[in-house]
Amino acid sequence: MMLLELKHLENSVSMETGLAFEATTGIDSERQRWFELRPSHVSRDHAFAIRVALDWRRIRIDFQPGKFAGELLGNMACADETGRAAFCAILADCAERGAEIDFRVNGSPYHFQSDEPWEQNWNRFVLHLSKGLLELGTDDGEPDADIVCRWTGRFAAAITAILPLEEEAQSLDDQMEGYPEGVMTTVQANRFERDRRNRAAAIAIHGTSCLACGVELSRVYGGVAEGFIEIHHTTPVSELGAAYVINPAKDLVPLCPNCHAIAHRRSPPFSVQEIRRLIDNN
Ligand SMILES: [Zn+2]
Ligand SMILES: [Zn+2]
Repeated sequence: MMLLELKHLENSVSMETGLAFEATTGIDSERQRWFELRPSHVSRDHAFAIRVALDWRRIRIDFQPGKFAGELLGNMACADETGRAAFCAILADCAERGAEIDFRVNGSPYHFQSDEPWEQNWNRFVLHLSKGLLELGTDDGEPDADIVCRWTGRFAAAITAILPLEEEAQSLDDQMEGYPEGVMTTVQANRFERDRRNRAAAIAIHGTSCLACGVELSRVYGGVAEGFIEIHHTTPVSELGAAYVINPAKDLVPLCPNCHAIAHRRSPPFSVQEIRRLIDNN
C-alpha cells in the first residue's frame, strides 16, 4: 500500500462510518506492514486507534484505547440499543465471512450474538478481529488495498456504532432514503433513518454495490461517486413501531438510485428479489 492507498483507506472508512479518520502506516520490527486509523481532531490519549496488521494472507485488527480513554469506554458500555444492535450485526456478519472475533469486557469474553446485557463498567475492552486465507500479496484477484479497506471499514463501523457521537443534523444524511412517502414518514424518517450508524452498518454488511442490479456507482461515475449508495428499508419505516430496533443485516439494503426508485413504484415496495426478476425478465 502506497501513500495514495493510505488516503484511499482514510477516505473510504471516513465515508462509510461518517466519522473523519486519519491513517498512518509503517513496518514493525518483524517487517510486517501495519496501519493505524484515529479519529481526526480528537486527543490521542482520550480517544482510540484502530490498528491493522498484515500478515501472510491474514489481516488482524484491534481496538486500542488511548491512555486516558476511561470516560470513552464508560460511554461505549452505555451505548443505546440501536448502537448495540448495529455493533452486533456487523460482528455477526464478519464471523459469517469466516473472521475470528474476540470481544472481551474486563477480561471476560462476550458473545456478540447473545442478548445478555452489557456490563456497565468497562475498565478493559478488547475487540480483536482476525481473518486468514485472504488474497493478500498476490498479483491476481482483488487488490490488497481493497481487502484492507473492506475489513477495516467493517471493524470501524462496528466501533463507531457504540461511540458516544452526536448526530450531525441532516447534512451528512441526504444519501439516506430520498423518497418522500408523505409527511408522516418524513417525520419518522428523521427519527429512524437519519441514524448514520445504521447506514454505516448496512454498508459494512452489504457493501456499496446495488444489491438488486449489482452496479457499483464509482465504477460508472468515478471518484465522485465513491461510497455513494442509497439505503432502503425493506419494511417501510412507517410500519415499524417506535420501539423497533433495526437490524441492519435484514432490514436495510443498499440500492442504486434507479433500483431504489423502482422499489418504490409499489407500496409495499418491491423486494430485492422482485427487482432482480424485473431486470432479468426485461
Ligand atoms: Zn441498482
Ligand atoms: Zn426506500
